[in-house]
Amino acid sequence: MMIKKLSILVLLISSNLPSLKAQTQIDEKVILITLDGFRWQELFTGADPLLIRNKEYVDDTTALKASFWRETPRARREALLPFIWTEAVELGELHGNRNRGSKVNLTNTMWFSYPGYNEILTGKADDEHITSNDKIYNPNVTVLEELNNTDTYRGKVAAFGSWDVFPYIINDKRSGIPVNAGFTPANGIDLTQREVFLNKLQQEIPSPWGSVRLDAFTHNYALEYLKKNHPVLTYIAYGETDDFAHDGEYDAYLHAAHTTDAFLKELWEFVQTDGFYKDQTTLIITTDHGRGTQPLETWKSHGSNIPGADETWMIILGSQANSKGEVTSPEQLYTTEVAKRIRKSLK
Ligand SMILES: [Zn+2]
Repeated sequence: MMIKKLSILVLLISSNLPSLKAQTQIDEKVILITLDGFRWQELFTGADPLLIRNKEYVDDTTALKASFWRETPRARREALLPFIWTEAVELGELHGNRNRGSKVNLTNTMWFSYPGYNEILTGKADDEHITSNDKIYNPNVTVLEELNNTDTYRGKVAAFGSWDVFPYIINDKRSGIPVNAGFTPANGIDLTQREVFLNKLQQEIPSPWGSVRLDAFTHNYALEYLKKNHPVLTYIAYGETDDFAHDGEYDAYLHAAHTTDAFLKELWEFVQTDGFYKDQTTLIITTDHGRGTQPLETWKSHGSNIPGADETWMIILGSQANSKGEVTSPEQLYTTEVAKRIRKSLK
């Protein structure tokens, strides 16, 4: 009797294996998120002691210190990025704290945005063709396009960005991937009430910059799309941190990082309450480049002439993360790892 039951069970399991495997593969989802030019220094140690009290870069140093100054780097980073340092740290891997030997670097030699995003999205530097931030359609195929070209993932990839160069980086023309970036409104016949309202506000609220919109638009357009269309691979590119840094506004830079941390929390909470995404979704969060530290004013800048602007970081949390928390042992990773992790999670 027992043997019979067992053999039926074995038969059932083995006959189900191929379909189970296929099911598992499509079940995994990835949301890739970038914070443009956000330094590892603030991610791992919070507000910079020299910048937070510098009247050249901060309007109201007393107010900023009340928000983000604490005595220890550990308390400072938690005040700045509460979701990352109280929740995400329990859910995955945090790479790039150079004070503890964990290093993540760019492999391209440009150290500015288009080359950085190209490296993140393709898994390879291209110093021959990607040498400016000009609106040139990317000759390289991103991991987004690669997956969108397969039968399994076609139509299940989407991208949102604050910077208006993303349609070119992702080559929306060739790849067919919907890219809502710059000042593009939500399009389609089935717009939600929120999307209609966001389209209205986007026209009414002026952006401080000509080619970058405020991140609240990018975030909420992405969130509405996730709820409505359930893409398997989504890319969300926030931009404020870089632009406020170029403007030399350290207070706005910190507030932008703090708000983006709240966006991450909102995304994660949505993922974990949505039947399609829950327990099957990985968030990969990174940056396109670092910024300077010495001399002090180079915090505003980046590029191959700014030492340290190739220093990046990477956070992986959710279903495909190795639960390590903050990596505190020596390692050398590269930004090229991001595309590899996406391929590994979805193939
Ligand atoms: Zn920049």
